[in-house]
Amino acid sequence: MSLPEVLAGIRAAEQAAGRPQGSARLVAVTKGQPLEAIERCVLSHGTFPLGEGRAQELRDKSTLRPDLEWHFIGSLQRNKVKYLRHVSLVHSIEAAWQAQAIAQAAQGWGRAPDVLLQLHNGEAQKHGLGPDELRGALREVQATGLTVRGLMVMAPDLDDVPDAERDARLSALFADTARRAHDLGLSELSMGMSGDYPLAVAAGATLVRVGRSLFT
Ligand SMILES: *Cc1c(COP(=O)(O)O)cnc(C)c1O
Repeated sequence: MSLPEVLAGIRAAEQAAGRPQGSARLVAVTKGQPLEAIERCVLSHGTFPLGEGRAQELRDKSTLRPDLEWHFIGSLQRNKVKYLRHVSLVHSIEAAWQAQAIAQAAQGWGRAPDVLLQLHNGEAQKHGLGPDELRGALREVQATGLTVRGLMVMAPDLDDVPDAERDARLSALFADTARRAHDLGLSELSMGMSGDYPLAVAAGATLVRVGRSLFT
């Protein structure tokens, strides 16, 4: 696939769900890709937010191209917060201390990124806030002065699950995430990746994170 094909898939999913065209935005996940490949496979088709999951790699690329729209989608360690200087949206806040550290660093940057709270997907090793922790975390993160725009969720690994059951479980996870965001008064929903973005768009995703299929 290529970026235009992924965009067409997103547009088709919007239309099938009766959603306005452009209401689900592609975040091009560029981790592991050199700037040259990003130019060729992403930026030659238009401007898109670029999602990076490794803080050092993000620092290296965004320092060279601070003019691009960088999103951080990985798990954030305290000593890496300083690398987020050129980031406009952090998708993956899972503890209030992360927001506090970003807000503090942002004073030196003269600008602060907006953030999303990452919801845990029920898988043992995965990151994120439990459903019962969301409301408290939202209050604590808002108290740092950062703007919380929505929720992010990662699909669990369901490679060994039959297709129909897999789709049903993912749809339920996406619908649950959408409902929780709505209950919290949050509008941005970062969910859906290469394999499952049509289901995510059907459930209301506003940011779809697609990586590998843009670069093949
Ligand atoms: C790598 C990554 C993606 C993109 O996954 P692909 O399978 O390459 O589309 C999306 N979200 C997160 C958090 C990632 O780390």
